[in-house]
Amino acid sequence: MSLLEGKVAVVTGASRGIGRAIAEELAANGASVMVNYNASAEAAAEVVAGIVAKGGQATAVPADVSDFQAAQELIKTAIATYGHIDILVNNAGTTRDTLLMMMKEDQWDTVLDTNLKSVFNCCKAAVRPMVRRKQGGRIINISSVVGLVGQAGQSNYAASKAGVIGFTKSLAKEIGSRQITVNAIAPGFFLTALTDALSDEMKEKSLEFIPLGRWGELPEVGYLVSFLASDKAAYITGQVINVDGGIAM
Ligand code: NAP
Repeated sequence: MSLLEGKVAVVTGASRGIGRAIAEELAANGASVMVNYNASAEAAAEVVAGIVAKGGQATAVPADVSDFQAAQELIKTAIATYGHIDILVNNAGTTRDTLLMMMKEDQWDTVLDTNLKSVFNCCKAAVRPMVRRKQGGRIINISSVVGLVGQAGQSNYAASKAGVIGFTKSLAKEIGSRQITVNAIAPGFFLTALTDALSDEMKEKSLEFIPLGRWGELPEVGYLVSFLASDKAAYITGQVINVDGGIAM
């Protein structure tokens, strides 16, 4: 039997990048996956088609997860489609990098709403159905090494990702007795639309402080998500696990 046979997963922001790789890995391990996206309908449809072509189950669902009501609808749709929800991966995220002295209020708000409020929104929608079902559950929140060590030009992003960590630990304590685990993953550098904006010089320079001497491969986050989502990780909760080549140790 596959690792995640019979499990239903919702992955926010799964139309590309790390979210896509997570959705593909969960599906490869037997989970039925709701591929959430905000604007990229075509890309999300491609992710679903790729999963289905390999014999997996997936459905694309649009929702701006920074919007409370939209997040409630997303989880309702997942339950209506697949009957229940076992795994929630809060991955959707964005950046508006600039130094604090230049940062506009909307750059702060957009990043906090997309990266942190979305986690509240989706957990708020998913936890009650998980508790009622009495089958436990898995919540996996994608933070960042930047939330652990900070980064000039990313005070909004770092605050949102550090917030995700505090939220993760608090919720883990609240719902541990229901056998619902809540963990965070802190990725380092992965080549996606989010990081492609960095100059070649900065990409090259980043290698100096990555002990493993390379950027991560996208599936390398998916492997950890699949493990944390499985029954094998039932005794792991409230943790922040870095997938960063050793940047923050
Ligand atoms: P990406 O390639 O830019 O993908 C972002 C995804 O989030 C897209 O699928 C996008 O969908 C979705 N999204 C954005 N805003 C949304 C919203 N309001 N509602 C629903 N979906 C939304 O970024 P990525 O690099 O894969 O990042 C994924 C996560 O990993 C983020 O939380 C990021 O902070 C974190 N992370 C990334 C790195 C890295 O090196 N790349 C490092 C550490 C942490 P649409 O296209 O439809 O808008």
